Amino acid sequence: MKDTVARNILLNPGPATTTDSVKYAQVVPDICPRESEFGEIMQEIASNLTCMVANEEEYTTVLFGGSGTAAVESIISSVVEGCILVVNNGAYGDRIARIARTYRLSYVEFVSSPVVPVDLSELESAIVHSRERVTHLAVVHNETTTGLLTDIGGIGQLCAKHGIVLIVDAMSSFAAIPIDMEQMNIQFLAASSNKNLQGMAGVSFVIADKRALENSSNIEPRSFYLHLYSQYRYFLETKQLRFTPPVQTLYALKQAIAETLEEGIAQRYQRYSESWLALMDGLAQLKLEHLVDKEHHSRIITAILEPELPGYNFEDMHDYLHSKGITIYPGKLGNQGTFRIANIGDIAKEDILLFLNYLKQYLESLEEN
Ligand SMILES: *Cc1c(COP(=O)(O)O)cnc(C)c1O
Repeated sequence: MKDTVARNILLNPGPATTTDSVKYAQVVPDICPRESEFGEIMQEIASNLTCMVANEEEYTTVLFGGSGTAAVESIISSVVEGCILVVNNGAYGDRIARIARTYRLSYVEFVSSPVVPVDLSELESAIVHSRERVTHLAVVHNETTTGLLTDIGGIGQLCAKHGIVLIVDAMSSFAAIPIDMEQMNIQFLAASSNKNLQGMAGVSFVIADKRALENSSNIEPRSFYLHLYSQYRYFLETKQLRFTPPVQTLYALKQAIAETLEEGIAQRYQRYSESWLALMDGLAQLKLEHLVDKEHHSRIITAILEPELPGYNFEDMHDYLHSKGITIYPGKLGNQGTFRIANIGDIAKEDILLFLNYLKQYLESLEEN
């Protein structure tokens, strides 16, 4: 393996730090993606992704070239007939509601706190009392704005009870937090190549219950490129994507999947957990507070309250850390000043300790002034 690529520690919530082997997997002979050889590669990728969360008899993976939002938009625009309830408890739930609005779908918004778990009895009450019967429900698994983890299994039970199709945005949980679509009663799930899968950005995908997917075939397409059923059928018949796929990104994804399977999803979450616990300790020592209580926190992304020190400035802190090879991320909450640290990707506890050390130096430099 050539060792020529500098290693940056990305603590933004994806694209995540990748291994050199994933980076170099992109350097391959040119190929036309309509060749059967490439079809086999996509077939293998799709089938491995399905098996991470479901069985292949009843579930399937539909690939798209695009960022993660493409997969979410594909589901929302393609499968909803009737009325969709959108759980909005952060920027990503809000994004789903905006997609529903864009396609002029009939929708109900269930607004909930981005730091406190969704109250399932209130959610059920909203379902029962909705003026229009709720046929679909969309929810984000790990709210990437704050790190709040939602009980999608509990929501799945509610959906089973009320005959509702469940759509989960698992973008920032897939391949780290174990998910079982059948057991959790999830019909559609969206994720992407560049977060916990530790691949390159550019592939997003939908994992779907085949029966629910078939049921969407009668709905008049609302989108051309992102029409889920059309891409599903086309791939079944041709082993090709309808439009040009990001070829090299798919080669990298193939390698990233192999590395994910080698590490194991539970072990990957264990590694992330060790980094996260080190982050928790370090923040406590620096007297910095995080927003979500530990019990409901994913061990993936953390929103931290900005310090109230004179001279503190996110950009300065970012630039200082960046000069040390570490990238941090701004917050995304309207009313509270936060910044975010994700501990996903090919990083380990040592990288978090290094980050904490530089963070301490930055904060001490403020106190000296
Ligand atoms: C990253 C992410 C997305 C997709 O974002 P893109 O920029 O389109 O890749 C969607 N939902 C959640 C919860 C995410 O974390």
